[in-house]
Amino acid sequence: MARIAVAGFRHETNTFAPAKASLTDFEQGYSWPPLTRGPAVAEAVKGYNLALAGFIEAAQQAGHEVVPLLWASASPSAHVEERAYERIAGMLYDGVQAAAPVDAVFLSLHGAMVTEHMEDAEADTIKRVRDALNPLGWRIPVVVTLDYHANISPAMVGRASALLGYRTYPHEDMAATGARMLPWLERLLNGEDLSQRAFRQIPFLFPLVWGCTTHPPASRIVAMIPKLEREHDVLLTFAGGFPAADIHDCGPSVVAYGASKAACEAAVNTLYDAMLEAEPEFTGALLGPEEAVARALAHQGHGPVVIADVQDNPGAGGTADTMGLLKALVAADAEGSVCGMIFDPHVASLASRSGEGTEVTAALGGKHGVEGDSSLTATFQVEKVGDGLVDCDGPLYKGAHMDLAPMALLRLGNVRIVVVGKKVQAADLAFFRHLGVEPTEARVLALKSSVHFRGAFDPIAAETILCAAPGPMVMDLKALEFKRLRAGVRM
Ligand SMILES: [Zn+2]
Repeated sequence: MARIAVAGFRHETNTFAPAKASLTDFEQGYSWPPLTRGPAVAEAVKGYNLALAGFIEAAQQAGHEVVPLLWASASPSAHVEERAYERIAGMLYDGVQAAAPVDAVFLSLHGAMVTEHMEDAEADTIKRVRDALNPLGWRIPVVVTLDYHANISPAMVGRASALLGYRTYPHEDMAATGARMLPWLERLLNGEDLSQRAFRQIPFLFPLVWGCTTHPPASRIVAMIPKLEREHDVLLTFAGGFPAADIHDCGPSVVAYGASKAACEAAVNTLYDAMLEAEPEFTGALLGPEEAVARALAHQGHGPVVIADVQDNPGAGGTADTMGLLKALVAADAEGSVCGMIFDPHVASLASRSGEGTEVTAALGGKHGVEGDSSLTATFQVEKVGDGLVDCDGPLYKGAHMDLAPMALLRLGNVRIVVVGKKVQAADLAFFRHLGVEPTEARVLALKSSVHFRGAFDPIAAETILCAAPGPMVMDLKALEFKRLRAGVRM
């Protein structure tokens, strides 16, 4: 049985977004547990759909000794502040040194973290863990799970003993990915030489919304992975990349680890070729807000129509407070419509203090200077307030206990609005039910999400409309000003 140190340190960085991630953001954690150190980490993540939780559970069940070091995750945003990164990376370094001797290290990283001072933060994190293990650092397995949206770099591939990414977007397999890393790590611990690797970066970027793995072409790509792994005896990852990152190694990639260089290359080349063939399919229609609302209201028949506000996805650096889609709902006085989750701590708090059955006059949202966006100033009825303590039950957030306080349900004409004090993606029905809104009975559900909403909302949606109101997660990648992206990458 092995002694395995484990840690999670994750951030998805949208270098074009308005706000950076501070140490406080990691300390709060938002959707995920707050910054935690030492043995308490195991309890903090237990039951969550997180790679760290999945790995800990699998390793303990297999009889290994797990030594939890750190959990740190902040809501996606612009760059991680240098001070925050250095503090947390320092905690990880100290944790590894204190835990030594260990037989292996398991890291749950994101793969798209950019700091104020480094483009490729994960490569640095892995190196620091190796350094902390010195003099044995490069001989001990350091295995790493990554997000589907990882922007994998050659340095990450070289410094990790193995990289393994999620295969789903929505990320329903985060915990499962952690568990999948264990048998590979056990092979490394048994002395198998699995040090060969192959890595190819795909020469085009695609918008987040078309990388959804429940729809083609991404569904087809990820479905190839298990068979290729078996055929070639490799650990294989397709990463969709996180396109809103102006860095050299931005974009999708494929990576394999194994005993045979030729087998790694064969598996990687098969996926690479499939991606090139699928390139023209990574596109689709996005409607403007007025058009989206008109189409939703024209829908005949039962069940809610979901409108996804795909450019203001807080899971990708969105502010969750742009008002374009909500204003279109209000202008149409869309009966039976509910919009969420609008991140506005000031208005949420104002409504909570004012109380149910009262009215508040306020400027809602639009507070981050997003181009083409502005607040919605009105007198809102406060229909319901909540303590914001929500137990999630959807496929993405299942097992998560969130504190979104304060929370309020406002009404403006026929439109109802869920306002939260902490930023969260509209990816769980429980957020609405917390305030007495039954999502299945709504006529229109306007959601701040690009893809993650699908796990919980596709099963109840009569129709799903993708809407591109002005927001920080721009889907037209040609509109982004890339300066640092490597040459030859198409979009
Ligand atoms: Zn992701």
